[in-house]
Amino acid sequence: MNNKLNTSRERWKVESSDIAKRTHNPIRSIVENIVVEPNPNKKLIALSIGDPTTFGNLKPAKEVIEAVQESVASQLYNGYAASTGYPEARKAVADYSSNEFIKVDPKDVILCSGCSCALDLCITAVAREGQNILIPRPGFSIYRTLAEGLGITVRSYSLRPDRGWEINLDDLESQIDESTAAIIMNNPSNPCGSVFKRDHLLDLLNMAAKYYVPIIADEIYEHMVFPGRKFYSLASLSTEVPILSCSGLTKRFLVPGWRMGWIIIHDRQNILEKEIRKGLQCLSQRIIGSNTIVQGALPRILRDTPQEFYDDILRTLHNNSQLTYNYVVNIPGLKPIMPDGAMYMMVHIDMHSFPEFQSDLEFVQRLLAEESVFCLPGQCFDYPSYMRLVITVPIDMLEEACSRIEQFCVRHHIKSPQSRNSLEGIAIPY
Ligand SMILES: *Cc1c(COP(=O)(O)O)cnc(C)c1O
Repeated sequence: MNNKLNTSRERWKVESSDIAKRTHNPIRSIVENIVVEPNPNKKLIALSIGDPTTFGNLKPAKEVIEAVQESVASQLYNGYAASTGYPEARKAVADYSSNEFIKVDPKDVILCSGCSCALDLCITAVAREGQNILIPRPGFSIYRTLAEGLGITVRSYSLRPDRGWEINLDDLESQIDESTAAIIMNNPSNPCGSVFKRDHLLDLLNMAAKYYVPIIADEIYEHMVFPGRKFYSLASLSTEVPILSCSGLTKRFLVPGWRMGWIIIHDRQNILEKEIRKGLQCLSQRIIGSNTIVQGALPRILRDTPQEFYDDILRTLHNNSQLTYNYVVNIPGLKPIMPDGAMYMMVHIDMHSFPEFQSDLEFVQRLLAEESVFCLPGQCFDYPSYMRLVITVPIDMLEEACSRIEQFCVRHHIKSPQSRNSLEGIAIPY
C-alpha cells in the first residue's frame, strides 16, 4: 500500500515513553532482587507486606460488607458516576472528614481509585516537570515513584528517630527554593508508625506559610493511633496554608483491594481555586472515576462502621506492637522504636554488631534464608541500617518471628560491640 509517511517508519519500532521508563518502585526492585530462598524447614513469616488482610486475622466490619452487598443488589451503581464521584458518596466523605474545626464541603471531595491515585492526582496537578517536591525520609516509596515518572525532582527531608520521627524542620527549610511545588507529609507514618504532635504540625504549617508552599498530606492512617495518643488532621490546624489531604478506606477499614481513596481540598483562602481545583477535576477524568459499587456503599460504610470495630483493631495493633517492642528491645544489636499508630515498627540494626553483613539488605536476606522471617530493609524507605516490621500479623506468628529474629541475632552478633566501639572511639549511632 502506498503511504505518505516519512520513510523513517519502515519497520516496527515501538518504544516506551519517558514516563514509563522513569517510573519505578524501589520496593519492587529491591524485593525482586532478593534471590535467597526461605529456610525450607521453617514456615515463612512475612513481616514485610503492608496489607492487613494477608493473614485473615483482621477483617472488615460486617456493616461494611453488608453495605457493599446492598450496593451491588440495588443495581443503582452499575453505570458511570461523575469522574469526581457520586454526589452522595462525596457528601459522605465530607461528613466523615468534618469535625469541630473544619467543615468539609462535598465539592471539595474528589474520589479516587485508592489513596495512591489521590496522591498521583495531587502531585500531577501541583508540580511541573523540572520543579521539585519535598518528601520524608524515611518514607513511603510511592511519592518518588509518581514524581520521578513525571520528571519532577524529589528532595528528601529527614525525620528524626531520636525525636519520635519528627520532621527535621531545619533540613526541610534548607531544601525549599523557588521551584518547590509542594511538601508531602505523611501522618501517621509508614514506615515509622509515628504520630505527629499538634505543636509539631503547627511548626510545619508555619514553615509552609513562610515560603508559600502548599502541602500534600498523606493521611491514609488518619485516626489509627493507639490509646492515649491523638491524631490531628493537618487541615484542622490551619486556615492559611492550602492543603490537599489524601485518605481512603484502604487501611482503617481493612479493604486495600477495594481501591477507594479521596482527596479533600482544604483551601480557605481560595489559593487553589483558579487552577489546582480545575486541574484535579480534569485529571480525575483520566480514569473516569473510582469504583461505583464502593461509592454506592460509601455513605453506609462511613456512617455505620461501629466505633467498637475501630477500637478493636487499634487495641490489637497496640498489643502487637508492645509485644514486639518488649521482645526486640532485648535482642542484641537491635533497637526498636515504639510506634504510636499505623501498623509498622522501625527497628535499628547496629551494623557494627553484625560485621558479617554489609547492609540492612544483606541482614534481612540472611534472616530470610536462615529463619524464614522476611522484613523489608530500610533501603526500601531510603533509610539504611533499619528494617520495617509489619505488626498486623497474628500474635502467635509475631511471637514466633521475634523468637527467630532473636536466635538469628544471637548467632551473628559479635559479643561486645560496646567495648569494641569504645576502643575504636566509634559512637554507637543511637
Ligand atoms: C498504603 C498506603 C497508601 C496507599 O493506599 P492505597 O489506597 O492502597 O492506594 C498511601 N500512603 C501510605 C503512606 C500508605 O501506607
